[in-house]
Amino acid sequence: MDRVYNCVSYVCSEGYEWEERGLEIDDMLISLYFKGISWSFNEKYGIGFSGKIGKTINWYFGSTQEVKINYPVLLAKSDKTLVLNIWQQYPSLYKKFANLQPTKNNILQFANSFGNIKDYYFHKNVISKNGVKSYSVDNIFIGCSYEEWRKEIFEMFENVKLLEIIQRFEEFDLDDIVHIGEDLITIWLPIEALPKWVYPCESDKMFDEKTQNLLQNILSQSEGKYLEIVWSHKGNYRIETIRKSSIQQIFEDNVKPDFYFSPEGKLQILKYTLMKRINKKITNNVTLRNLINPQTGEIDEFIFSDNLLTTMYLQLNNDFLKKRNIKRCLYCGEYFTPVKENQYYCPEEAEIIIQEKNKFIRKIVPTGKHCKNYDYTKNKPKIIDMYKKGMTIEEISTLTGRPIEQIKRWVKR
Ligand SMILES: [Zn+2]
Repeated sequence: MDRVYNCVSYVCSEGYEWEERGLEIDDMLISLYFKGISWSFNEKYGIGFSGKIGKTINWYFGSTQEVKINYPVLLAKSDKTLVLNIWQQYPSLYKKFANLQPTKNNILQFANSFGNIKDYYFHKNVISKNGVKSYSVDNIFIGCSYEEWRKEIFEMFENVKLLEIIQRFEEFDLDDIVHIGEDLITIWLPIEALPKWVYPCESDKMFDEKTQNLLQNILSQSEGKYLEIVWSHKGNYRIETIRKSSIQQIFEDNVKPDFYFSPEGKLQILKYTLMKRINKKITNNVTLRNLINPQTGEIDEFIFSDNLLTTMYLQLNNDFLKKRNIKRCLYCGEYFTPVKENQYYCPEEAEIIIQEKNKFIRKIVPTGKHCKNYDYTKNKPKIIDMYKKGMTIEEISTLTGRPIEQIKRWVKR
């Protein structure tokens, strides 16, 4: 049985809201950003700090490259947080994220359930009488811009597509996807694979005036139907460009000339591409702790991440490296990580880890799901009825997608 990882995330218990333009850029500073976390915990902000609490020395004042100020920004309404174990409770959250149509409303709903994808620290600077800017912990805002949400959703969508192609490569023509050039390798996807909210436009029309006007109208008048444009070429669009030399370096002398043109070579290139894209997202904000289970004495591994986006990339990574076995609930269709044999339903409880002072405490929390109960009361009688009307167990299994063992157990008098 797989070991179930834990990935702790924080959701603001008061929810989130869009900050459209409430503050002038001058007053609003994106200035506070700190790198990495340690497990000294600041209860007020619900976050761990690297280094000593209250020391501003680890905090970057002034905007950093990674911080986006573009409005609107999705801000947490307060600093009160709830702890979620995304890993156990929503093991395939990255798929839900990839398929989110990034309207402001949808993003708000997602954040209210799972938190902001990244927590940037915005700081309102107050100019004092003598003209000196002062920074105070009382006016810190935690948030992430709309632009960044949209960008990350699109990127995740592409990565999920890449994963699908890698997992079921026999069904795809890899020659269409991986183009080998003189020095560069490009990865292309068909425009049909784009999310519905992205409008593909042929790149040879890029500079034509009619297209320019059209594109402006498409975004502004589509009422949220289209939120982004990509430039395509003959029905495909490019998602990545790689230097041939970087492949050469990795495989050293093992690359024979026909490597690039064989299906195995192309699959290898796709794996390398996805690996690189995942590595970029899982950065220095992941901590691993081994904790002893006080009941059994066994040692379990726990992953802590302060960043929901990283958590989702860890999930994607585990599926990419086939490190876990996830199942779909027979009742609600959501994914879950089975913790025992023959588990068909979402778990009713999940284990979370919280930190109290210097101790990590395991806590069992209800997931609020009762899929097994509902399935038994709602669907079991229907299955028994089908059987009584003369259908065989195999026929019922094919029709309903249920495992044969379960039907056998149900129809047994
Ligand atoms: Zn379920």
